[in-house]
Amino acid sequence: MTDAAELNAFREEVRAWLGANCPPEMREPMRDETDACWGGRNPVFKNEAQKLWMERMAGRGWTVPDWPKDYGGGGLSPAETKIMKQEMAAIGARNPLMSFGISMLGPALLKYGNEEQKKRFLPEIARGEIRWCQGYSEPNAGSDLASLQTKCEDKGDHWLVNGQKVWTSYADKADWIFCLVRTDFQAPKHKGISFLLFDMKTPGVSTRPILLISGNSPFCETFFDDVRVPKDQVVGEINKGWDVAKYLLGHEREMISGMGLGGQTGSLGEALVETIGRDESGRLADPLLRADLARFDVDALAFRAMSERFIDELKAGMAHPAQPSMMKYAGTELNKARHELVMAAGGSNALEWESDRSKKGKAAREWLRTKANSIEGGTSEVQLGIIAKRILDLPGA
Ligand SMILES: Cc1cc2nc3c(=O)[nH]c(=O)nc-3n(C[C@H](O)[C@H](O)[C@H](O)COP(=O)(O)OP(=O)(O)OC[C@H]3O[C@@H](n4cnc5c(N)ncnc54)[C@H](O)[C@@H]3O)c2cc1C
Repeated sequence: MTDAAELNAFREEVRAWLGANCPPEMREPMRDETDACWGGRNPVFKNEAQKLWMERMAGRGWTVPDWPKDYGGGGLSPAETKIMKQEMAAIGARNPLMSFGISMLGPALLKYGNEEQKKRFLPEIARGEIRWCQGYSEPNAGSDLASLQTKCEDKGDHWLVNGQKVWTSYADKADWIFCLVRTDFQAPKHKGISFLLFDMKTPGVSTRPILLISGNSPFCETFFDDVRVPKDQVVGEINKGWDVAKYLLGHEREMISGMGLGGQTGSLGEALVETIGRDESGRLADPLLRADLARFDVDALAFRAMSERFIDELKAGMAHPAQPSMMKYAGTELNKARHELVMAAGGSNALEWESDRSKKGKAAREWLRTKANSIEGGTSEVQLGIIAKRILDLPGA
């Protein structure tokens, strides 16, 4: 559908459907991570509205609007997908389903999975029936991911996996893992890696939660002791998992870059007026903070414009492969700056940790969480290295 009249008709249809089907509770901003719906084999819904919203969107394939209908998606074109997102944003509709299956594994399966794998996993992901975690990092393989040592041996009728992953987000809640394993120890490090999928309930898989500075424990150490994995659960070719891994990382970085938008449409200065107060001429009362907030608002507008252009280029297949690194770097640094300003505006009150007044330390906990934005999915330093080498083509990079 490309014709303007058809697109307008589609917009009307989406608007009417959302109006009738998005429960009012799902039009409120999310207050914290527990407001997100993650689906899975044993989904936890915060309330009936959240369940209804996820089911209604999944019923139309709109949890993944641009995936093909055959795999549980909505089959929408890039232009239609954009319209749908705009209409959702216009009424403040929440994302119905947070899912590493949608934002990371799905795109990799669409490109590298065989037909059987696509039919088996993609519709389950679209309906929110399976929750995935990402087994990339290891104690000695973070930025230098290709050094990973988790061993995967071919035992004829199955793979045998032994090793350890770390920082595996929600490993204790996930149903399945997409995992990088070494299948060849003799080859150069990038060339002996395979991309494997397996059930977290497989005997030999165990997890141990890691406690964070924010007081939460969203990720784990993950151990594999003689884990037997069916032969048909490798995605792509054996020993060529690095290609799949890199492609998936591009999508992960695109997802993380969205934090730059911070769920905020207007000016941060305006949003903080109540906290900071106004001077006699109606401007924000603190002149230094006012200047910082003005600078931030300009950066946020520029990021939003860049982000829209990037998504359009990506959907049109015209994005540079290293562009997600640029977006991730800009988006996560911006989000850190946003929360620094929220804390500066709040003063010592913003440091409250447990009180009801502070909503159990919402501002402080969110601020601390942003510190991880420029680490997860590859650090800012690593993104700058990629930008220098692959986009700017700098000598010596
Ligand atoms: C909140 C959070 C969630 C995460 N979730 C997952 C997950 O679900 N699954 C998963 O597999 N991993 C996950 N990670 C791990 C994440 O991918 C790694 O932490 C990240 O890649 C950095 O690796 P590292 O921690 O080993 O740090 P290191 O690689 O040891 O880096 C240490 C420091 O050295 C710098 N550095 C390293 N190499 C270079 C270089 N070449 N040039 C310049 N500077 C360099 C880094 O920038 C960093 O400042 C998560 C991390 C966080 C914080």
